[in-house]
Parts: sequence; C-alpha cells; structure tokens
Amino acid sequence: MTDVALRALSADGHVRAMACVATELVETLRRRHHTSPVATAALGRTASVAAMMALMLKGDERLTVQIKGDGPLGSIVVDADSHGHVRGYVDHPEVDLPLNAQGKLDVGGAVGRGTLYVMRDMGLRDVYSSSAALQTGEIGDDFTYYFAVSEQTPSAVGAGVLVDRTGVIAAGGFIVQLLPGHGEADVQALEERLGQMRSVTDLLRDGATAHDLLHRVLPDAVITAEQPVQFRCTCSRDRLAAILRSLGDDELRALMEEQGGAEVRCHFCNEVYRYSAEELQAMLSTPQAEEVSRE
Ligand SMILES: [Zn+2]
Repeated sequence: MTDVALRALSADGHVRAMACVATELVETLRRRHHTSPVATAALGRTASVAAMMALMLKGDERLTVQIKGDGPLGSIVVDADSHGHVRGYVDHPEVDLPLNAQGKLDVGGAVGRGTLYVMRDMGLRDVYSSSAALQTGEIGDDFTYYFAVSEQTPSAVGAGVLVDRTGVIAAGGFIVQLLPGHGEADVQALEERLGQMRSVTDLLRDGATAHDLLHRVLPDAVITAEQPVQFRCTCSRDRLAAILRSLGDDELRALMEEQGGAEVRCHFCNEVYRYSAEELQAMLSTPQAEEVSRE
C-alpha cells in the first residue's frame, strides 16, 4: 500500500478534513535514523501531520515543523513540500523510555514541554513563522492547540504510529477543521464523532486506510486533493560542500592535516558525504577570490 494524503470538504463547506497513511515514510525515517520505538512514534506522528499540512501548500512552497521540547528526545524537525516529499530527524533517536501508565509509548515524556514552531517558506523572500506552547508533547494535542491559537482555526488533530522492535507496522493521522461559516450544529456533530472515535493507532491496527480515517472524521467528505507522500531529502554533495567551504580556510587546512579529508553528515537523511584532502584543497579560497569578496 502506498502512502497517501487526502484533503476534503464537507458537502456544506463548513468543515475541512485531511487524512493520511504514511507507513512507508515513517519506516524509512526509522531505518535511516535508527530511531527507538518512542522516537519513531514522536518523529512519525510529526511527519504524518506535516504531510497533511503540505496539502495546503502551492507551487514551490515548503514548510518546516520544529517541536522543541525539554524532554530527552531533544528537537524534532520535519520538512515537507507541496509535492508530498517529507524528511525529518530527531536530535536523540536512541532515547528509549519505559511505557507510560496506559501501557503506551511515552511520547509525551520523551518530547517534554516547550514550543511547536511552523515555518512556511512561500518562495522568494517570504517566510512566515508561527508557534504555540506544547500541551502534552503527544503531538496530536500539540497541533490541535497550535491551529486554535496560531491559525485561529478550531481543529482536532490525531496522529498515530504502530511500531514494534522490528519496524513500523502502520502510521497516519487526520486533521479536521471548522471553517468560517460553521454553526453550533457543526461543532456538536464533530465533537460527538471525535468522542466516539478510537485512537488513530487502534484504527491503523485494524487496517484503516487514509480514506477510512477521512470518513471517520467527516462522513460526507468530498475529496478535493489526493497526493502521494514519500521520503525525499534535498541534500547533495555540492550543497554540503558549501557548508564545508563556509568553515573558512583555516578550518579546511586543519581537516586536511589532521584527518586527511572531511566527512559531513546530512541531519535530515543521515547520509554521509566524504571529501578527500584534494577536494578540500580545491575549496580553499584563492587570493583572487579574497580580493573580490573585499569589494
Ligand atoms: Zn539529506
């Protein structure tokens, strides 16, 4: 089954909903970063929500979600573009915690308290940033609060990752939002549906698809967008060479002399790029280039 994200409106246009299944994406993140089960759940829930938020982007726009908590995982960073390409990492992927009192992965304990940031890169020079305090660190609750306070959109967000020691069994989520023009009846109907709904993880365990999740939160959903979701990193040898070059000549010479070359790791995909001493030599700024930069 391929990963997909859906966007839909209720027949009367009062409610918007998004849903996704992102099992392959989250399994790819787990394999690349060697994440523990609780780190997989935290990163996977964030990646699922980002994949759905990406459905609202246009053209070459992209968004970055950063969950900066004071828990042992450190920060979670996920990047998504309008084509459904998603990448991400967590500072401390090895962190493992005992199950919480409910016998579930303790995502809230691993994330801790702090702030959720969303940065939208609209191309050219426009970057919009907004944030909200983390509520529980369980990710779904934190995005629910974020949409209410930062985007003034009453919302409910659910995200779940079903994982065991061997890998990700299923991952996905939903976002449901009340749009301008909604009435009290819409609020009540939605609260009732959400109140009766089982967790996303339970639904995924029973084999729920993105369409199933969507129709659970919005029975009369009219689908307006459907997009494949997949892992993709934008890093390359050239891009990371630019980071090396920015260290300056002294640092480059030290790397050549002490290590005979350099290794640069991309945070987002964990790929390692190796540069020989000869390649570093070629990166040194020439006297001529220095003169140009002084002008
Ligand atoms: Zn990369």
